[in-house]
Amino acid sequence: MENRVYNFNAGPAALPVSVLKEVREDLLSYKGEGLSVMEMSHRSKTFDSIIKEAEQLTRELFALPQNYRVIYMQGGASLQFAAVPLNLLGEGQSADYINTGSWSTKAIQEVEKLGKQYTVIASSEDKNFSYIPGNFQITDNAGYLHITSNNTIFGTQWPQFPESAGVPLVCDMSSDIGCRPLDISKFGLIYAGAQKNMGPSGLTIVIIREDLMAGSPANIPTLISYKIIGGKESLYNTPPTFGIYINKLILQWLKNMGGLEKMEKINREKAALIYDILDTSDFYRGTVEKESRSMMNVTFRLPAEDLEKKFVEKAIENGMIGLKGHRSVGGIRASIYNAVSLDAVRTLTDFMQEFERSNG
Ligand code: PMP
Repeated sequence: MENRVYNFNAGPAALPVSVLKEVREDLLSYKGEGLSVMEMSHRSKTFDSIIKEAEQLTRELFALPQNYRVIYMQGGASLQFAAVPLNLLGEGQSADYINTGSWSTKAIQEVEKLGKQYTVIASSEDKNFSYIPGNFQITDNAGYLHITSNNTIFGTQWPQFPESAGVPLVCDMSSDIGCRPLDISKFGLIYAGAQKNMGPSGLTIVIIREDLMAGSPANIPTLISYKIIGGKESLYNTPPTFGIYINKLILQWLKNMGGLEKMEKINREKAALIYDILDTSDFYRGTVEKESRSMMNVTFRLPAEDLEKKFVEKAIENGMIGLKGHRSVGGIRASIYNAVSLDAVRTLTDFMQEFERSNG
């Protein structure tokens, strides 16, 4: 496969090979136009059809109701940590947060920094973020409830999304958007940095209910105003054109794969291959509660840190990269996003079994 490694990076992460090939095909001359997408005006007819198609495919794949809009932004998911409270919190309102890991914590730090009212209504910090909390009570004057659907560093994922009692549910879906079907009508706003399941870095996708988009206050920076950027069809200024083009190709790939129901099936199968080993081995130890396990980032430990170091090194020798856990938590993490094939995961599980035999 043209010297490609098995890529278990947490993000930026593996992209579908067929997408990369199409990009290569189109790079010097997009559909015979004599220039690449990177080189064309964002106001050209050709780019207009690319961005419209990306949006149309998003609507189709995620079954977006009519009253939802897709906005393409920049600044990563991290800028959304500030954009959400600045856009959505009305006079006298407070924001509710559920803290399930480092990224939720960062989102909370940002709302704190802005001097907005907020309450952390549940947290799994007491057990090192190894589970998704079940019990919480939404605050009376809550403007929204913010959750992180998949905790990239700790390896947990909401198995079902919570009921938010009419309060808009805001979800950071950066590391699992597109891994399974969703009932979008449950959400007020979803945001995701594209660089795991949706494209290259530099593009942030926002899916928002129209009435919330209309409510952005006038006194916030233009480039984070959902009302302004959404109102200009994401063309207020120069959008990340190449990222939107690749996003479109990925959405087409997802559609050809059979859509999100099919992806969930494949993702569950991939994750089960690794979790089965964790469940049956005395050598490997999963780090999170079973009901909260992520389909996207599988985290585990070996009996000793030097063995973990050796595991990562041997994996690289065998063509598998990106398995070192996040620097803040250590251990091993296999990120198995949509574009990581069943074949890649089988190669990893074969390697895990062999490594246990020779080091266990
Ligand atoms: N949220 C989650 C769940 C993430 O995994 C990440 C990045 N790994 C971020 C937010 C931050 O994203 P960005 O780098 O696009 O700001």
